[in-house]
Amino acid sequence: MKTHPFNQFVERLRRVLAHLSRRQVATVSEVVAAFAAHSLCLDLIEQHGRQHPGCPHCRCADVYRHGYAAGLQRYRCRACGRTYNALTGTPLACLRLREKWLPYLACMLDSKTVRKSADAVGIHRNTSFRWRHRFLTGARQQRPAQLQGIVEADETFILESQKGSRNLTRPARHRGGRASTRGITRQHDCILVARDRAGQTLDWLTGRGPVSAGQLGRCLGPVLAPDVVLVTDAAKAYRSFSRAAGIVHKPLNQCAGMRVDGPYHLQNVNGYHSRFKGWLARFRGVASRYLPNYLGWHRALDTRSIDTPAQFLSAAIVPKQ
Ligand SMILES: [Zn+2]
Repeated sequence: MKTHPFNQFVERLRRVLAHLSRRQVATVSEVVAAFAAHSLCLDLIEQHGRQHPGCPHCRCADVYRHGYAAGLQRYRCRACGRTYNALTGTPLACLRLREKWLPYLACMLDSKTVRKSADAVGIHRNTSFRWRHRFLTGARQQRPAQLQGIVEADETFILESQKGSRNLTRPARHRGGRASTRGITRQHDCILVARDRAGQTLDWLTGRGPVSAGQLGRCLGPVLAPDVVLVTDAAKAYRSFSRAAGIVHKPLNQCAGMRVDGPYHLQNVNGYHSRFKGWLARFRGVASRYLPNYLGWHRALDTRSIDTPAQFLSAAIVPKQ
């Protein structure tokens, strides 16, 4: 719309609004906000499309514009003849109600439960659950490439959960329950967290039971700068890994009361563990298979690497792995 007619429209709107009740004005403002959220959402999606040109089906770069569908630019590939848009091949393809995505992501930034998020944006709770995990698939892949300086690493354990599963591979534990034996066993999921003093954090779900030197090599090996000082407890696996990787290792024998040695301690990583568990409690038990998503979600919130719904959406639009 040109400037002059637009200004006239705004004037007319002002006059109409003056005759509306407060509730009616609030409804108009909700309609405008939803429209703005939808168009921002489409802009962010198209922005991703421009940054990743080419056919997602066959990777060919010879493509042309082929109309619009549901508000998104559609393209056709000259090589394979198939059409696509900026969401094709991402976890968000085929999700509907895009006008509600950004308000939903605002709920996720507030760590709202599935049900509360569903109520807040007006979607079914099954949709809410599906959206949560679709948005997290991309967001959890936002990880620092390398940890530097003093790096603290430690594991924490969560009782394995098959919540929501139709086929339990063991007898049911009611209301979350307890492990049938004491201590860390194969009934616990092991979460390894490494954190440097700049607050960069990485996490891994290493499997059931205590972490092995081999697992440490696969997780920590590729992400530790060569000159780090790795601070851990006195578990043997860390010693074997550090020796094999040629990394300076500072073990703290916490059982013998050695919690701090000069600048070396595990307070940052242990603080992170306890914040994660405190945060996770609101979800009243999450299935083990979804733990990587929750780890990524918490990491994004805790390190503030994702701060706005728009950033959340951009992080979520990634090629499916
Ligand atoms: Zn193609």
